[in-house]
Amino acid sequence: MSALAERLSPMDAAKASLEQIPVVVKGRQRPGLWPGAAARIEAFFVRHRDKLVWLHAVMFLLFLALIFLPLFLPEPAENSTSWNNFTRFANFALWGLWFPLVFLSVIFSGRSWCGLLCPMGAASEWANRKGLRRAIPAWVRWEGTPIISFLIITILGQTVGVRDHPEAMAEVFGGTLLAAVLLGFVYGRNKRGWCRHMCPIGLLLGVFSRIGMVQFAPKRPRPGGDRFTEKTVCPTMIDIPHKEESRHCIECFRCVQPQARGGLFLRLRKPGEEIENIHRHHANPWEVGFLFMGTGIALGGFLWLVLPQYQWLRQKAGEWFIDHNQFWIGDAGPWWLMSVHPERREVFNWLDFLTIVGFMLACMLAITLVLSLTTAAAGCLSTRLGAQRGFRQAFTELGYQYAPVAMISLVIGLGAALFEPLGLLHEAAPRLVKLTLFLLSIAWSLWLSWHILANQQIEPRKRWLPLLPGLLGSLMVGAAWWPGIFGI
Ligand code: SF4
Ligand code: SF4
Repeated sequence: MSALAERLSPMDAAKASLEQIPVVVKGRQRPGLWPGAAARIEAFFVRHRDKLVWLHAVMFLLFLALIFLPLFLPEPAENSTSWNNFTRFANFALWGLWFPLVFLSVIFSGRSWCGLLCPMGAASEWANRKGLRRAIPAWVRWEGTPIISFLIITILGQTVGVRDHPEAMAEVFGGTLLAAVLLGFVYGRNKRGWCRHMCPIGLLLGVFSRIGMVQFAPKRPRPGGDRFTEKTVCPTMIDIPHKEESRHCIECFRCVQPQARGGLFLRLRKPGEEIENIHRHHANPWEVGFLFMGTGIALGGFLWLVLPQYQWLRQKAGEWFIDHNQFWIGDAGPWWLMSVHPERREVFNWLDFLTIVGFMLACMLAITLVLSLTTAAAGCLSTRLGAQRGFRQAFTELGYQYAPVAMISLVIGLGAALFEPLGLLHEAAPRLVKLTLFLLSIAWSLWLSWHILANQQIEPRKRWLPLLPGLLGSLMVGAAWWPGIFGI
């Protein structure tokens, strides 16, 4: 914020910023990077947005084929590949392509997956048009709901073996689709309540869209900060003139009318800009907590598969149950809760279920604790060095520095199949690529932290000190991933 703006009241400051934004944002007048390209992209999607429904229909059919067709096909042969077997192709399409690429695409195109391609969100909105149109209840709107939704789906995915078994893939993705349609059918009026409040990956994509290059900004911004409203054209219930943050914007282009004086316009920006200036973009402590927890749970979901310590813990837990005559612990559980596939020589019992869930939650708590402590140390140092923030605000802003590390953690952990084909080039290539991505994400996190501290008015010569806890946090996450990237 300029010195002039700092002396103005919030209303006057908003008027001042309003005057800086041209009402007509075409070609060279448009703020941001490459204004001509932004204007052309905007014009293209505005012209063709009525055809998106066809794209959604095609994606919907493709999605149904990928998750349900393998259930009706014979078991793939040992030596079959994605090129000659549909079941293997479906698995690679979801875990090797869709999952990691959607996350990486957020850096370049924000939540374009959500607005342009996602069949689940489109199905939920379609059901909403035909449905009961009830007001969205408070339990759905609660900020913790998408966090719980993400944790349940991530843990369930591990216990049912969603990456290995077509039945589990159908259960997790089909169940999520059903929930999206049901929620859309019951709640909201021409809205996507599911996408804003409950989608297990919506919050993830939302947090990472803050580092993305695409922003939809109001032509005539109003003061007061981002807010929720159901009286809006926006399917994710953004109050258009108050929009400050990217996380709920699914890039559907419905609020964009290039010739109008109001609404939003497409602005391209350098990656990470919103987080560098997070003080102006509605920093949210729930989101920061989610970043920490998401990193931890992804780590736990990977480490239980590779760490001998997990096997040791499982052994000890099993002995404890047997010593206490709790023999049910060795029984297999229901198929919808855990992997029960005798034909593939994999049957989980209650001991497996409980130890996997416990291990993942313990990893989540440990990483959340580590990152909270390092962020608290950075926030504390920042306030002592003269930050123009209270501790709580400094903590929340600095928590966003971990966004790149968290994103790469998820891509490496849950989208590992993307890197496997690189092994055809060289045995070490997948590991090297993962390590390079991780080191880049740490460097980017440091860069973000540097700018967040600058915006907290910390002098450059003192900035290295609150930077150190952030570096420590990133390195500790990196150390925790080491067995996942390089093996034990
Ligand atoms: S929020 Fe979830 S369901 Fe909605 S469009 Fe995005 S990925 Fe799809
Ligand atoms: S802000 Fe505009 S582009 Fe973004 S989701 Fe809402 S209506 Fe769509």
